[in-house]
Amino acid sequence: MGLKCQVIASIMDKLAPRKFAEEWDNVGLLVGDGSKDVSKILVALDATFEVVKEAIDKKVDMIVTHHPLIFKPIKNVKADNPVGSLLIQLIKNDISLYAAHTSFDIAPNGMNDILCNVLGIYDREVLDVTYSEGYKKIAVYVPQGYEEIVKNAMCNAGAGFIGNYSNSTFQTQGIGTYKPLEGTNPFIGEIGKIEKVEEVKIETVVPQKYLEKVINAMLNVHPYEEVAYDVYPLENLKEEYGLGRIGTISETTLKELALQVKAKLKINNLRVVGDPNKKIKKVAVCGGSGASLIHKAVSRGADVLITADIGYHDAVEAQHLGLSLIDAGHFATENIAVRFIAEYIIDETQKQGNEIEVLVSESQKDPFMYL
Ligand SMILES: [Zn+2]
Repeated sequence: MGLKCQVIASIMDKLAPRKFAEEWDNVGLLVGDGSKDVSKILVALDATFEVVKEAIDKKVDMIVTHHPLIFKPIKNVKADNPVGSLLIQLIKNDISLYAAHTSFDIAPNGMNDILCNVLGIYDREVLDVTYSEGYKKIAVYVPQGYEEIVKNAMCNAGAGFIGNYSNSTFQTQGIGTYKPLEGTNPFIGEIGKIEKVEEVKIETVVPQKYLEKVINAMLNVHPYEEVAYDVYPLENLKEEYGLGRIGTISETTLKELALQVKAKLKINNLRVVGDPNKKIKKVAVCGGSGASLIHKAVSRGADVLITADIGYHDAVEAQHLGLSLIDAGHFATENIAVRFIAEYIIDETQKQGNEIEVLVSESQKDPFMYL
């Protein structure tokens, strides 16, 4: 039994939330009908001619890639150019296409964290923050006896998380006063008479994204007709997401680290900039093209940046700045995530009680060869 294409797209959106994608990027469902049934998926780094042929041969319903096939705006869909020809093949064969690009690079547990896991880089942080999410403090006044139900409803809707702690709240007791006016239906008190009620003020934090959900959950269980609550912006708490990671490794030399990277990424060649005997402890990482992060890596105190697509001038600049570089290739630094994505889709679809066949592309190879 299959799942709707849109359901697979939502499963991928959970792994690579589209809000993280860079403005210039193009992620999400790029080709296909969300209501179509999908029972076989092929995961690859790119939708190349080889990958699309593999998908057609293996009777796949959907392809999930990292790089988006439609990237620059297209003016036509014609068979005489590569993108047009691939789009025609996909549509003719009723194959949907989803891409998780910078959304996946930036996401926690996405591309860069997978690369760090493979390379054994720990205690890591985001290298270049591209997206941050604010928090609010919410305070609500409830009559005594209703604290638990209101707190639980709010925490279950996403409030109360601070670091790895959940259900974080604070409560104080006090006296609430109010006078119900004509036309009201007060839970406690009489119309026209000032009422004093023993109330509890519950305070908790909520990520901006869950604010509406938390307020609705609170209003649903609160006994009052008119609920008094306040929402304050928090300046001291925010979650930061971004490109690349920086972390530490057991101290080694640049040469030794380069050999480890070769072994872990299963590659025969890579390029290194810097003194092979330099001591390395702090490592910056960015899968794919990460030369634009050289300055960031320097300012964060990295000894080396492991990335790909380093140009000559990038290498010279890094030398001037005292930053070592390991260019392990775009394909090798990113293709390691393909298997992870396939396993993730299998796990998530199984959780929903569905058996979907998810294949890892066998046809896509690094376009570069070394002679
Ligand atoms: Zn890439």
